Amino acid sequence: MTIRTRFAPSPTGNVHIGNMRAAIFNWLYARHTGGQFLLRVEDTDRERSTPEAIETLLQAMDWLGLDVDEEPLYQSTRMDAHLAAAEQLLADGHAYKEDKGGIGQGECIIFRMPEEDMVFEDEIKGTLTKKAADTQDFVIVRSNGTPVFHLANVLDDIEQRVTHVIRGDDHIENTYRHIALYKALGAPVPKFAHLPMIINAQGKPYSKRDGDAFVGDFKEKGFLGETLFNYLALLGWSPGDDREVMTRDEMIAAFELTSCKSSPAQVDLRKLLWMNGEYIRAMKPEEFAEMAKAEVSAFAKATADKPNLDAVLALLQPRIKLPSEIGPAAAFFFSDDYEYDEKAVQKKLLKEGSFQTLEKIAEIFQGLETFDEATVDKALHDFVEESGLGFGAVMPPVRIAVSGQQSGPDLAPVLSILGKEKVLERIQKTIDRFGA
Ligand code: GLU
Repeated sequence: MTIRTRFAPSPTGNVHIGNMRAAIFNWLYARHTGGQFLLRVEDTDRERSTPEAIETLLQAMDWLGLDVDEEPLYQSTRMDAHLAAAEQLLADGHAYKEDKGGIGQGECIIFRMPEEDMVFEDEIKGTLTKKAADTQDFVIVRSNGTPVFHLANVLDDIEQRVTHVIRGDDHIENTYRHIALYKALGAPVPKFAHLPMIINAQGKPYSKRDGDAFVGDFKEKGFLGETLFNYLALLGWSPGDDREVMTRDEMIAAFELTSCKSSPAQVDLRKLLWMNGEYIRAMKPEEFAEMAKAEVSAFAKATADKPNLDAVLALLQPRIKLPSEIGPAAAFFFSDDYEYDEKAVQKKLLKEGSFQTLEKIAEIFQGLETFDEATVDKALHDFVEESGLGFGAVMPPVRIAVSGQQSGPDLAPVLSILGKEKVLERIQKTIDRFGA
């Protein structure tokens, strides 16, 4: 049997990461089993499912690399089939008509739940049951003649020959109804796998109020599609070892429904940020340069007295977690007009001995014949040792003098990239400004 999974979103203009996580699990399972991954757009709410909303959805899938194996099925095109099936259920005695509320708004069609306990084996949660007494008949066609979600969802899964329905566990109650519908329609019941809820730090469903919640938000902030895919894949699944940053092929190879978790998955945006940094670190230098282009274009023009952009980017790449950090981190390399971080100046520069240290360092640098990283590094180390001052008294004033900042990449390569002349100029400028 070829496994067929699907993503069945209702487009609203924003794609919540919880929905996308379901899409990713369906995609991974299909790819792991050599099956097929399908898309069904549940677009029966015409007010929300605008062409723009559908476009947003398709773009989000494209950005995350969720390719589909067949043309998408648009639920709104299937209304006749849904209504015909409702008529059949009426004819077979599985449904009945009723004027709901008796308010003369016309009759709706109601599905008759079988009077038996419901049981199914969830691929993730195990055996799930519901007592007959706790089930209720439900509307499948409204009095205005439109089919209800339950009917449309089940009929379209039958139409698309879906074998595994993988979706959020907020659908478990629906699944009891859906299984009854499959049986009444004489269709094979697919397997169900209900994914654990995605929660915030307080254990409540993760929402917009907790931080970014839509795929588009993350894209705009400069997260990589690969990062978000990897991160969401781990919300409720683990490869069974401690791997976290994984290639797509590794995830496909390791993905099993049986290794999905049934307990809620907590969103940790700091971890997502860390992971983005790992993906950026792993980029080829030319990919990183491409990403950085827009961020540095305003100031990183190549001129004779300005440092080599490639060298600056190579130094920054391992430290960057979002593209928006590149500009602020790179600016001081290219402009003498950098600002001094007030706090850094107060805490680390305006201290007993700082300016003497800077003068000494300037003298030492002055005497260096070459200013490559290793030479500068050795000179700094030798000074720290001979003066007995310690790194904590030497490095911060130098760093603040040349960059205005308290932290940044390793100091020796920073100095070497800036070049001797600039470094001496900046040290002098700092002494003149603060040391008087
Ligand atoms: N349109 C439904 C949703 O977005 C489909 C659920 C499903 O069957 O996957 O929640």
